[in-house]
Amino acid sequence: MASHEHDLVVIGAGPGGYVAAIRAAQLGLNVGCVEKETALGGTCLRIGCIPSKALLESTELFHRAKEKLAEHGILLPQVELDLAAMMRRKERIVSGLTKGIEFLFKRNRIARYAGLGHIDSPGRVVVSGEKAETELKARHVLIASGSKAAGLQGIEMQRERIGTSTEALAYSEVPGHLVVIGAGSIGLELGSVWRRLGAKVTVLEYLERILPEMDGDLAAEALKIFRKQGLEFRLNSRVRAGRIENGCCVIECDASEPLRSDRVLVAVGRIPNTEGLGIDGLGIEVDQKGRIQVNDRFETTASGIYAIGDVIRGPMLAHKAQEEGIACVEQLATGYGHVNYDAIPNVVYTEPEIASVGKTEEQLKESKIDFRKGVFPFRANGRAHTLGQTEGMVKILADTATDRILGVHILGPRAGELIAEAATAIAFGASSEDLARSCHAHPTLPEVLKEAALAVAGRAIHI
Ligand code: FAD
Ligand code: AMP
Repeated sequence: MASHEHDLVVIGAGPGGYVAAIRAAQLGLNVGCVEKETALGGTCLRIGCIPSKALLESTELFHRAKEKLAEHGILLPQVELDLAAMMRRKERIVSGLTKGIEFLFKRNRIARYAGLGHIDSPGRVVVSGEKAETELKARHVLIASGSKAAGLQGIEMQRERIGTSTEALAYSEVPGHLVVIGAGSIGLELGSVWRRLGAKVTVLEYLERILPEMDGDLAAEALKIFRKQGLEFRLNSRVRAGRIENGCCVIECDASEPLRSDRVLVAVGRIPNTEGLGIDGLGIEVDQKGRIQVNDRFETTASGIYAIGDVIRGPMLAHKAQEEGIACVEQLATGYGHVNYDAIPNVVYTEPEIASVGKTEEQLKESKIDFRKGVFPFRANGRAHTLGQTEGMVKILADTATDRILGVHILGPRAGELIAEAATAIAFGASSEDLARSCHAHPTLPEVLKEAALAVAGRAIHI
């Protein structure tokens, strides 16, 4: 068996793993990275963030061309869909970006090992490649093995017809009727994609609300908007069973007749990927949800073995995995590394987008923290009118005693870009007054953030 030695071996080349590998190489460590898939980039680049956003962009343009351009005085004879071309564009973007990671690996002299990584003993990883096994020895091993879609008890997953986001990113035709199970970000984004292309979409959600992690007011407002867009919602609907019957998908849920559809997307969350890693034999502890337990230095319960990203606690987000990857290897190389979990934004790329950073109103009330609230609607913003996108609002929550910004929640056009200012403000410990006194260009959407900050002190101008 071939054998190689490194300072650090990273298992998994998703956003957590590849970024950790690059940062460690920058810091002078000799790094190897094991990845079982042919392409680098993990869930995010191959079957997650990037392909979903490519389709969201294409389908929103399709929808606008059909429904919205006439009001601008732009008349098109006929708008037609070439789904295969839309999918090819998505694939080109994915392929270009995954190749970009290969280039970065070469540039940073990171050794890439293709195959399944198994930790045999502390400091020893065995890679099972297509043809042979390779032994890797390393002082430090970092697990960045990510997550996979959760299944649902009682549902017979059939990939193409009853499947996960991976299948829903690549349907070969627009389903007549798509049932989405779960009103989280993945269900709503992919439900929107197929709705815009003409599918009837029914979303079944166990809870009485959508987007359980987002601010309640914004989620309720978003629900109204999505309903107007033609998405059907059945809340308080727990799915019990699902199967294919006479070529049709049949979904049974509490308190309603079985639903029949062409396809089903199961989007009820993701579970950590620990299969095949060999963690059981090493005394690496996992929590009730199967996530690898780590301390604040990302150390597992086995010496010299670390874990970051979707495979540990916290929000399953690409940028959270990246921050942790960097903090973990900086800790190894310099003794210092830190992630500010209060300043991690979360974006849902529906139309309008929903973005949030920091605490929600519900969380602050639960923790009995006194706060003041400033809310400002996009309909009072000039730029939003010129864009023709006036739905939604910004909500800023600030500590009553210190005025420090504790949470910012945005439902509205380009919320995913707007949230960056709020995340920076929270990272810098800004007060709502700091934001309110910063000059924002006119006419721009960020003026809504400034006005919401002014509203915290009851002095918004344009309302
Ligand atoms: P992953 O990206 O899952 O990477 C883990 C890698 O490890 C994989 O490549 C896997 O093949 C490899 N691996 C696992 N086990 C082994 C082994 N034993 N040996 C070798 N290799 C192994 N997040 C956002 O922030 N923004 C979004 O817009 C967004 N959209 C999403 C849309 C969808 C449809 C999905 C499914 C997810 C989305 N996410 C989004 C979540 C995001 O993709 C994840 O949070 C992120 O990829 C986690 O990064 P990671 O590095 O921890 O793991
Ligand atoms: P997320 O974890 O953000 O991807 O969201 C998953 C969503 O699926 C949550 O809103 C859950 O409440 C919902 N969910 C989980 N199990 C079921 C179920 N059996 N039936 C319907 N919805 C579910």
